[in-house]
Amino acid sequence: MAAITRERAERIGKSHACTHCKEYSFKKLVVKPAPESITAELGAVWVVTRTCGVCGYQSELGLEADGDIVFES
Ligand SMILES: [Zn+2]
Repeated sequence: MAAITRERAERIGKSHACTHCKEYSFKKLVVKPAPESITAELGAVWVVTRTCGVCGYQSELGLEADGDIVFES
């Protein structure tokens, strides 16, 4: 199965509310390939790191190949 593209991962990251304040405004959003250890352990292929534009909270989302969120921190 082909993994979702980086662009798609970015869109999913933007469409998922801030973990802390539940807003959808991010001043910074970076998508990186998940480290091998994360892929092996949790099945995530992309890690989205976001800084909320409202409360400044930094959160991380791990995305599976099909775009499902496998972890959130
Ligand atoms: Zn926030």
